[in-house]
Amino acid sequence: MGKNTQADQVIRYVYIHVPFCLRKCSYCSFYSVNFSLEACGRFVKYLIKEINLFKQKYCIKPKTIYFGGGTPSLLTAEQINSIVSQFDISIVEEITLECNPVNINDEFVNELKTTKINRISLGAQSFIDKELRILSRLHKADKIESGYKILRDHGYNNISFDLIYGLPNQTKKDVEYSLAEMIRLDPEHISTYCLSLGKEVPLFSHNDQIPNDERVSDFYYLIRNKLISTGYEHYEISNFAKEGFISNHNICYWNDKYYLGFGPSAAGYLNNYYSECPDEIGMYRRINDEEKIIYRYNNSANFETYYKMLDENKIMRDKSILNEDNHEKEFIFLGLRKVSGLDLEEFENKFETDFTKKYERVIHKFRNLLEINDETIKLKLEAYFISNEIFSEFM
Ligand code: SF4
Repeated sequence: MGKNTQADQVIRYVYIHVPFCLRKCSYCSFYSVNFSLEACGRFVKYLIKEINLFKQKYCIKPKTIYFGGGTPSLLTAEQINSIVSQFDISIVEEITLECNPVNINDEFVNELKTTKINRISLGAQSFIDKELRILSRLHKADKIESGYKILRDHGYNNISFDLIYGLPNQTKKDVEYSLAEMIRLDPEHISTYCLSLGKEVPLFSHNDQIPNDERVSDFYYLIRNKLISTGYEHYEISNFAKEGFISNHNICYWNDKYYLGFGPSAAGYLNNYYSECPDEIGMYRRINDEEKIIYRYNNSANFETYYKMLDENKIMRDKSILNEDNHEKEFIFLGLRKVSGLDLEEFENKFETDFTKKYERVIHKFRNLLEINDETIKLKLEAYFISNEIFSEFM
């Protein structure tokens, strides 16, 4: 195991789950309930309590804060400010708010300007009204453009769009149309999602209308090639950014960084070396004699259980230890998702083993789909869409 430094013991990445939506979309498996002003107000109070319980034990100085959901754009500016003000944001680089286009109007954005939000992730999904209806989105295509323009007019210069492909009965022309509309609007970042339906979601009944793998793979490469040719950098299997606009928050997951998740259903990733706060003079008391233990926690996806945990002044109920073997597999899986690939030296430092020797068989099996040199191993272009097949061999 590599050695921890003092700087490692400060938590730099924060995710906040806002579990309210105006209406449930037909394809969505994320945890959210119907919005009400009262329920949201209660949630924010508990969320602030959760943050402060963490602060008693951990040192948190975020570089990024990400409001995901759910629909974080249902929060008022006052609520956003009261949440953000719980943190020391003296070194913060990026605070993202996921926004539903349906919430964006002049009044909303005027209010938003009173907060520290400096990056917007807009849940556009498609520019075809028929597709938006199938997805049960509340917005129509014209609302994306009008919302986007309002954000631009108010000076937001770091905006990301979500684009879903692989929808029931979707054609190549449909994909090209939504993509062209997105490119026309010229956001700084685009996240693409291949539709995948859980059995529990209403749209699952249309599962048989989803284009086959070959067609969906064609959609993926069509999107990728078009975005690259229009000046976007492809930096992770599903993510594209203009120069200087890679998502600092999302990259923390792929770079195996530790993070905290707040709110119902949020997950965090930590090790036991973090469990000491700086003393009065700002020095960390090390607990190096202890073996390093890496773990995840998952907050309950149920309001009452989440509130009960906080009423009992507890945090991180469902902790699960990630043993070295599982950590190694995750590191490979996440590292190979990056277009820059997995850093072999970093791997060796972390796991004290030579990657190319240990995984010689898999590397040989996929030699036509992997690119390897002294420093990195990465997926070749033709492997992107079948990456899960390759990852499973490493597992
Ligand atoms: S708005 Fe987002 S989180 Fe809410 S139901 Fe739709 S997809 Fe899910």
